[in-house]
Amino acid sequence: MKSDLISIVVPCYNEEASISLFIEETNKVIEKITKKYGAEFEYIFVDDGSKDNTANVMREQANKDSAVKYVVLSKNFGKESAIYAGFTAAKGGFVAVMDVDLQDPPYMLEEMYEAIKNEGYNCCAARRTTRAGEPKIRSFFARLFYRLINKISKTEIVDGARDFRMMDRNMVDAILDVCEYNRFSKGIFSWVGFNTKWLDYENVERQCGESKWSFWKLFIYSLDGIMAFSTVPLSIASFAGIFFCALSFFMIIFFCAKTLIFGEPVAGYPSLVCIIFLVSGVQLFCLGIIGQYLSKTYLETKKRPIFIVKETNIS
Ligand code: UDP
Ligand code: MG
Repeated sequence: MKSDLISIVVPCYNEEASISLFIEETNKVIEKITKKYGAEFEYIFVDDGSKDNTANVMREQANKDSAVKYVVLSKNFGKESAIYAGFTAAKGGFVAVMDVDLQDPPYMLEEMYEAIKNEGYNCCAARRTTRAGEPKIRSFFARLFYRLINKISKTEIVDGARDFRMMDRNMVDAILDVCEYNRFSKGIFSWVGFNTKWLDYENVERQCGESKWSFWKLFIYSLDGIMAFSTVPLSIASFAGIFFCALSFFMIIFFCAKTLIFGEPVAGYPSLVCIIFLVSGVQLFCLGIIGQYLSKTYLETKKRPIFIVKETNIS
């Protein structure tokens, strides 16, 4: 570990077009910080099993500039695992995470560095204030997700928070200790605690390449997030059970009374079918939730590595 070194971890998946532009833009800010504070920099590019030329571009950049380090993973492990791989490789006393598509404005690095170095924060993170340029329906569901997860989880997940942040060594070591397989970084960053300064900025659109996130992928990701940081869905079964028991109790009294008073036979078939469908639907739904948690637990107990390195220039 080098205390005056800033490691910039950059997960990349099929990003051959973005890397050189990213380095060019970020270098401008880096030069400024190096001059002003005398800090050193290193890039840790993590190739998350790209199918294009990403790894070659990384090698070329590393040949040109000794500050460029790279780690090539053996397959696509997902952004969260790529970040973890980057953290493992980072040697700096300060570690930043950035997307390679320049959606995380490099100029903010300076303010982040100052917040940690001079203002006593352990972490300085970026938060989008707008979601301009994003489909309306996606923003709507994103807001809904943040509201829901903050209601049912003790870990606070800030709306608009990005993974883009700089942290000190203490916090990075704490994150490295959280070695769960189902990684939801936003939750983990918040769960480890420490004090975080938030910097607001307006949404920036991707420079080149395309987003890896479809609506469906984001939906699954949000469910993973909820399951990783809350067990409230597991209690839905208990609440539904109590509700239906109470309901059936009142229905028994109601129909008994109705038959005793009016002497009418209870017209049964349609209502019976509806009730059976409803209750068995609720039961299957609850069973599904339990199944999801069980499958996550199953994966965790296997203790598989979070990432596997195929190649690196880090010694
Ligand atoms: N990424 C990754 N592995 C993946 C998907 C994405 O390392 O499986 C990287 C990607 O190359 C980029 C960052 O994660 O640097 C953010 O991805 P993207 O820009 O697609 O997400 P968005 O900004 O649209 O949320
Ligand atoms: Mg992006």
